[in-house]
Amino acid sequence: MSLEVKIVRSQNRQKTISARLVGDVIQITAPAGIPQDRLDEIVAKLKARIEKKLQKKQLNAQVDLHDVAHKLNHKYFGGELKIESIEYSTNQNTVHGNCNYKNKTIRISHRLANMPEWVRDYVIVHELAHIIEPNHGESFWKIVSRYELSERARGFLLAKGWEEDVGC
Ligand SMILES: [Zn+2]
Repeated sequence: MSLEVKIVRSQNRQKTISARLVGDVIQITAPAGIPQDRLDEIVAKLKARIEKKLQKKQLNAQVDLHDVAHKLNHKYFGGELKIESIEYSTNQNTVHGNCNYKNKTIRISHRLANMPEWVRDYVIVHELAHIIEPNHGESFWKIVSRYELSERARGFLLAKGWEEDVGC
């Protein structure tokens, strides 16, 4: 995703840079006196942040992860897990999923949206299993193996260069 950027240098006494999204265009208003290289730097950061936010919004609108998690909960956990929230996140570049087992909130890396569904489902099952078992112990992997394709999915992710998610 790449949005168009339109920069307006303000002629009044504006001191800060502001950005807003109008359709597919990021409109930026900047102080007249700001050096170009400084402005470019800030605009690049703003653009990346806005695009990430938008991407997250679009991903979560496309797929109802609650629905997916609900089905997996029923199939592999007897519907016993309480899931507070689950969503795609664009802030995770090192782990593919993240589960806060105390709050029962799950975040799934946006990169999984471009992978096969059975891989995404594996990551969700993995994170759901953390609600029961926070650590990556033997009992944890036993729960995860209820999902028939878990070994294959782990192999798939490793082949993609994704490290095992030691964080969670
Ligand atoms: Zn884990």
